[in-house]
Order: sequence, then structure tokens, then C-alpha cells
Amino acid sequence: MERKERVFKTPVYFLEEQENQIYIKRDDFIPISFGGNKARKAVHFFEEIDKGKYNVVVTYGSSSSNHCRIIANMAASRKMPCYIIGPQEASEPTTNSKMMELFGAEVTVVPVEEVRSKIEQKIQDLREQGYIPYFIAGGGHGNLGTQAYVDCYTEIKDFEAKNHIHFDYIFHASGTGTTQAGLVCGQLLEKDERKIVGISIARRNPRGRDVILGSIREYLDEKRVAIDEKKIRENTIFVDKYIEKGYADKNSKVKDTIKNMLIRYGIPMDSTYVGKAYWGMKEYLKENDINGKNILFIHTGGTPLFFDDLKEF
Ligand SMILES: *Cc1c(COP(=O)(O)O)cnc(C)c1O
Repeated sequence: MERKERVFKTPVYFLEEQENQIYIKRDDFIPISFGGNKARKAVHFFEEIDKGKYNVVVTYGSSSSNHCRIIANMAASRKMPCYIIGPQEASEPTTNSKMMELFGAEVTVVPVEEVRSKIEQKIQDLREQGYIPYFIAGGGHGNLGTQAYVDCYTEIKDFEAKNHIHFDYIFHASGTGTTQAGLVCGQLLEKDERKIVGISIARRNPRGRDVILGSIREYLDEKRVAIDEKKIRENTIFVDKYIEKGYADKNSKVKDTIKNMLIRYGIPMDSTYVGKAYWGMKEYLKENDINGKNILFIHTGGTPLFFDDLKEF
């Protein structure tokens, strides 16, 4: 059977009518390995792999990585060996790491400062053994990952045209920034007026935003599209105000949001990414006095992390 995994058209649902009309795009419904933005990106990498040149996959991430779970799952479904390098500092067992194990991925854990050299060594070793490794950057970072969210932006445009609606804002959880880079590239290519707001889950400015700007330039360069630097900067809104104590901080305001969203709509959100970003979005709307707008929130997945959170509720 031919694999047709690339186009998703994930559903958009109306959520609440208070000060603003909030809609949610369920990228957690992408039908591969619990979905999410890492699944949307991963299909692009496996499109390359499925051309037949490569026979092992190498990537990296922590034990809680959604990206590593999905890559391990998709590799296993192709009976392809998968090697994951992870930082010792974030290697405690999680639902995701248990699945990586189940998929037969070989996970090597080293101190965080040795991750880079370990990856290089692994790739070298595999080559010497006669394998042709395909390397995927952590989180699906890179132009193919960016492309995935340019495609998502096109889906959003299609939804707007069909439903005679215009989203004034798009909000989502921003980590490595590839998701945001893709959405902003989509917007720049379409010359749309709206605000795309990435709620940072860990990184601070200026670094967080600079990484996104770098990804945007890299993508536009590859596509040979010239866009004014000022316009690129104007469109890249990366908010680092709702990080709280940093990556995976489980504060009570985020927990309340998660509980409320689950009870009211039956939508699972995790505390590291989606729950935090949803809470951050609500705070942002309040603090900036934003009313009467159409708002799209992208649910970027992370459902297995929700089950880890659940143990602490
Ligand atoms: C990785 C991840 C993000 C962040 O995506 P980036 O492209 O790295 O910014 C958001 N939500 C979930 C659930 C993720 O796993």
C-alpha cells in the first residue's frame, strides 16, 4: 500500500465565546503515533527515507521527547534500526521512553555536553559497519520540519476560505521554533496580515527568537524567496513571559488550565507544551486587552506527556 501520510487537514473546532472567539486546530489528531507537530514533521523525513537510500535512523532527544517516540515508531514500522542519543540529565523513564523501548530503538545516554560528539561517533560507527544512516536533528529542526508547518499554514488558509472566517491571531507552544518558523514562512509567502504568537515553553529572548529568525532565513534562502528583513522580524512574535520556572515546570495555574480543558471539552493537554501555551495565550489576551477577535490555537500534541502529568494530579 502506498503511504499517503503527508497531507492531514486536521480538524478545527470552536471552543469558547467569551471576550474572543477561540478555535483549536487539533494537530494532536494526526493519525501517526499519537500525533502532534513532531508527527507532522516526521512524515517529511520519512518521505526522504522511503526513497530507499538509507537503512538506519539516528536522532536525539530526552526521555520525554515526543519527537524521539514518533521517529522510533515510524522506524520500527519500516523494520529500520533507530538510534537515539539522549542527555543523562533528562533520562528518567516516561511514557514516551517506554514506547521508544517497545519500538526497539537503541537509546544511548551521555552527559549533555557529550551529546553532539556521541552523535558524530554513532554515525561514524554505523558507516564503518556498512550502514547508510539518516540523521534527524532533535525536535525535527531544519528546513523539512519548517516545510511541515508551511503546509499547516496552507491548511489554515483553506479552512478560512471554506468557512468565511479570518483568524486575527494564531497561538501555539514554541520550543525549538521550527513550528513557528514554518507558520511565519507561510504567512510571509501568502503576504497575510495577522499575528502569529509563539508562547515560549522554555527559551528566553533574544536567543529563542533569534533561532526562529535563523530557521526562517534558512528556509526562504533554500526556496530562493527574497523577503524584507524588517518584515520577517515584524512577523516573528516570540513571547517568553509565561515560561515560569522553565522547561517542564508544572505550576498550579497550568494544571488548573489542563483540568478545566479536559473537563469542559475532553481535550488532553500536557504541562510542558500545550497546557502551558494555552494558559499563556489566555494571560496574553487579558494583559494586552484583546477582545472580539478570531483566534486559532494549534494543539501541537504531546498526549503521552499528559499521561505522565496525570500521575501528579
Ligand atoms: C516539540 C513540541 C512543541 C514545540 O515545537 P517546536 O517546533 O520545537 O517549537 C510544541 N508542542 C509539543 C507537544 C511538542 O512536542
